[in-house]
Amino acid sequence: MSGAGATLEVVPAVLILLGPPGAGKGTQARVLEERFGLVQLSTGDLLRAAVAAGTEAGKAAKAVMEAGDLVSDEIVLAILKDRLLEPDVSKGVILDGFPRTTAQAEALDDLLAATGQRINAAVSLEVDDAAMVTRISGRYTCGGCGEGYHDSFKKPAVAGTCDKCGGTEMKRRADDTAEAVATRLQAYHAQTAPLITYYEGRGCLETLPAMGAIEDVAAALKGIVEQATR
Ligand code: ADP
Ligand code: ADP
Ligand code: ZN
Repeated sequence: MSGAGATLEVVPAVLILLGPPGAGKGTQARVLEERFGLVQLSTGDLLRAAVAAGTEAGKAAKAVMEAGDLVSDEIVLAILKDRLLEPDVSKGVILDGFPRTTAQAEALDDLLAATGQRINAAVSLEVDDAAMVTRISGRYTCGGCGEGYHDSFKKPAVAGTCDKCGGTEMKRRADDTAEAVATRLQAYHAQTAPLITYYEGRGCLETLPAMGAIEDVAAALKGIVEQATR
C-alpha cells in the first residue's frame, strides 16, 4: 500500500501541534480528539507501529529514532500519506509531531492545496527546555489504548491501571533516555523550530504557553481551536 500518488480527502479541520519533545503534543491531541471528535495523527506513533511490525520503513527508522535523530522526510511522508487515506480522517485531523522540517511543511501545503484545503491553525506549544527532561523521563503510556501518563504530573486513579481502558500493561519508550532527549531537543531547535516562522508567514500561527498544568493548557487550546475552526 502506498499513498504516494493519492489525493487527500477533504477534511473539515487541519490543526498542527508544534513543540519540542515533551511539550504535551500527544496529551493535548488526545484531549482534542475527545472534545472535538478530531483524529490524532502522530507520526511518532505511526513510526513506532512500523518498527514493531518490522516493515521496511520500520527497519530503516529504528536506530535513527533510538538515537533521537529525525527519520528521513521520504519515509515520514510516505507513512503519513498512507494514513491520510484511511476514512476516519474525514472527521478532521490534529497533526502531532508532523511536520518537523521545512520540506515536510511544504509537502503538506502541496497535499492540501491539491484539494483546495488549508491549515486552520499551527499551534506552537511554548515550553522551557529544562523542564522537558523531567516531563519525558517520567512519561509512560498504556499499552492497551495509548493513553499517556506521568510519574508525577498525570497519575492514573489506581496505580498501574489505565483510567481509560482498564489496561494494566504500561510501557516506556526506548528513546525516552536522557541522551536521546538531548539529541531530540537539538533536532527540534535546528530543524523544527524554523516552522514557527514558516507558519507565522502563512498567517496561521498560534502560540500557546504550555508550562502550566495539563488542564490549563487544554482550556487555552480549546479557545484557539474553536476560533480557528469557526
Ligand atoms: P516526541 O513527541 O517525544 O517529540 P514523537 O513520538 O513525536 O516524539 O517522535 C519520536 C521519534 O520519531 C522522533 O525523535 C523521530 O526520530 C521520529 N519522528 C516522529 N515524527 C517525525 C517527523 N515528522 N519527521 C522525522 N522524524 C519523526
Ligand atoms: P509530546 O507528545 O509533546 O512529546 P507528551 O504529551 O507525551 O509530549 O507529554 C510528555 C509527558 O509530560 C507525559 O508524561 C505527559 O503526561 C506529561 N505532560 C504533558 N503535558 C504536561 C503539562 N502541561 N504539565 C506537566 N506534565 C505534562
Ligand atoms: Zn488504556
